[in-house]
Formats: sequence, C-alpha cells, structure tokens
Amino acid sequence: MSYLKGLEIKKRTAPYREKPKRNTKERRELNENDKKFVAKQAKAFFHRWVKWRDRGLPCCACGESMSHLPEHMRQASHYRPSKNNSAIRYHPDNVHLGCSYCNEHLAGNESNYRIRLVQKIGLERVEWLESQRQVKKWSIEELREIRDKYKALLIENGVPLPRNYN
Ligand SMILES: [Zn+2]
Repeated sequence: MSYLKGLEIKKRTAPYREKPKRNTKERRELNENDKKFVAKQAKAFFHRWVKWRDRGLPCCACGESMSHLPEHMRQASHYRPSKNNSAIRYHPDNVHLGCSYCNEHLAGNESNYRIRLVQKIGLERVEWLESQRQVKKWSIEELREIRDKYKALLIENGVPLPRNYN
C-alpha cells in the first residue's frame, strides 16, 4: 500500500483571521479597501439622503401619505430596479421615497411609479432613465466618491448618519 504514502488528507486548517475591532485604524483601512463594504456604505448614505430629500412627500408610486409609517416601511425605491440597471443605481432621479408595500410587495409598482415620476421630474428625465440600459461596473474609487458626497450632504443638513457605516 505504499502508493497511499503521501496521500494523507491534510486537514483544512485555514488560519482563522480575526477581524480587527470596529473603529480601529486597522479595521478602517481594511474596510476602505473592501469594495463590497464601500458599496454598502455608498448605498446606505445615498438611500438615507433620498429619504431626507423626499421627507414629507407621499409614496412615489401609490401616492399614499407615508407620515404614519415606521422607518423600516419608508424605503428608498428604485424606478428602474437597481439590480438590472447598474448605470443608474445611484442616480438621484431613479430613486425616491416609497412605501414598503409598493417597493416590496408590488415590486416597485412600476406603472404607477412612472405616472408620478413624470409629474415629479418630467417626461424627458424619465425617458432618459429608461434609456440607460448599459451595464456599469462601479470601481471602488467611484463608490467612495458617491459615499463621500452623500455623507457630506447628510452632515451638512444635520441628518443622522446610518448606523454601522459611518
Ligand atoms: Zn406606495
């Protein structure tokens, strides 16, 4: 059975890398170079800004008042779904405050969203959004720019920053 020599199954003992604790320089550096994390930050700051911009407005799709809704039901709702429309994922014309019923249960309630969006920003800008079908790969530098831009706008306007990402 000599051919089995050297075939010892090596235990998969990948060294356990402990993530540095939050708010340490090391952790911040790690996060700053983590594209997924920066993308989450960009999204969190941008969505918080959309909610602040549209505060007091009714749902972008159904038009119902949202003032009685708890925070988690007041959502940043994309007109063209963000997943398949990467080029306009962070475009302020493409994202408006909407209720969770429209955003989640009616998948954006797109036909009603369109009617109200045309009233809000005009047909020309809506049609421009609809023409932006190209796939866009966001670089980490671009994501940092988006994050920083909306973070600055939130701070400037005294809006509390999203937890976990500030
Ligand atoms: Zn709605």
